[in-house]
Amino acid sequence: MSYLVFARKWRPQSFDEVLSQEHVTVTLKNAIDTGRIGHAYLMTGPRGVGKTTTARIFAKALNCEKGPSSVPCQVCDSCRSITSGNHMDVREIDGASNRGIDQIRELREQARYAAATGRYKIYIIDEVHMLTNEAFNALLKILEEPPESVIFIFATTQPRKVPDTILSRCQRFDFRRIPVSDMSEYLRSEASGEGITLDDSALGLICRASGGSMRDALSLMDQLVNFSGNDIHGEDVARLLGLVRTDILADVTAGILRGDASGAVDRISVSLSEGYSVDELMDALLAFLRNLLLVAAGASESLREVPESELVLLRELAEGVPDIAVLNILRIMTGASIEVRRSNLPRVTLETAVMTASNLTRAFSLNTLPGVTARLSAVRAAAVDPGKVPGGTPGVEGAPSSGAPDLGQDDSDDEGEMEEGEVDQGVFQDYGDPAEEQVPAGSAYGAEEGDSGNGVREPEEEEAAGPSEDEPPEDDGPDRKKEQETSQQILGLFDAV
Ligand SMILES: [Zn+2]
Repeated sequence: MSYLVFARKWRPQSFDEVLSQEHVTVTLKNAIDTGRIGHAYLMTGPRGVGKTTTARIFAKALNCEKGPSSVPCQVCDSCRSITSGNHMDVREIDGASNRGIDQIRELREQARYAAATGRYKIYIIDEVHMLTNEAFNALLKILEEPPESVIFIFATTQPRKVPDTILSRCQRFDFRRIPVSDMSEYLRSEASGEGITLDDSALGLICRASGGSMRDALSLMDQLVNFSGNDIHGEDVARLLGLVRTDILADVTAGILRGDASGAVDRISVSLSEGYSVDELMDALLAFLRNLLLVAAGASESLREVPESELVLLRELAEGVPDIAVLNILRIMTGASIEVRRSNLPRVTLETAVMTASNLTRAFSLNTLPGVTARLSAVRAAAVDPGKVPGGTPGVEGAPSSGAPDLGQDDSDDEGEMEEGEVDQGVFQDYGDPAEEQVPAGSAYGAEEGDSGNGVREPEEEEAAGPSEDEPPEDDGPDRKKEQETSQQILGLFDAV
């Protein structure tokens, strides 16, 4: 037995098996059942989504000995010879290699003769946009007066390159990319029939890499089975494709969201040593953060193409995280991605961006501590008038002028009362309000550190008995010192962003 690649082995043989193109198959079935058959059809859409497969099924339905029937019998001589690709009256022509006028003239000669055995003589011309102008003109002459019982089915990925004179004589069907959910369900079920198992991560990566093309996905499956046998994991797919694994992206993102700069940078370091390039990591991280932003913002429609396994991770990460926080991280990373391409030291640029973003969320997290929050109001006021801060520091006085006045204006001294609409400028303000509403101390941001403020880790390590999240620190002694440091840290972030 010769080996059949999945794309051929699993090729749909009936309209109902064609995946995710119901708008096409239902129309064609109705046309057959009501006997309204045209002379020319144009199947357009991305590669590998079922255009020529549908054309073959249409040919089969029209020429089935028990038809024409929208449900061809699959067992008569006609059906079987179309399935095996050697029916005398169904000819498949590759437009890319038969693009000249001679081939079309020859076709015109043949088309004059009645079908040999079937009901219809059917020409399926793939990549029809590749024909030369002369060939198109010759083709047009046939279409202007098509011989009875001749049907043309054209397929193309680039309908714009097909002359209008041809287009206007065709019934046009636009095929769509296959949605991730349909594709992954299909792959899983077909694979399990072959004794092949795919984990969620593998399925997600295959679907993403295929870009909605089933043929690409199936070719990848062939490669994967050769690469890793019948038990396919996400790591196998990632290695084969050179893709950044979702778990790496989730780890880095989690580090940033927790304000754990060293954790995030370490994860990047490990990934680079695994062979990923800075560019690959950066691009993948941006795409991941973009999806995280959509999850945080609740934009479900835009997430249809994201594999379910990744969505689960994204939802976990987005838990309690305001979309504005993700938006600011994404802004930092987007800016850095441009720099990465220009930089002689792209790794440094990536690491710096990740650290900046981590510090930003760390500041965000700190802002939820009641004692620090109260203290910060004073610091903000001091940004306008340094004299107001008891023990004001040079760092505070030197705060950048661009951010400082905004802080003072928008937020008087009552943190909790700020309306969301007011919070729209400046990094700190963006974070300030959602933090109090959505990320109470001890939740996603700071909890994992297991102390009262991961943002002040260094002083914290020395002062093991520091204030807990539940107990607002008194405004004196070491706490005050810490808060001053914190204030400096946060204001310093305006320089970084
Ligand atoms: Zn049949």
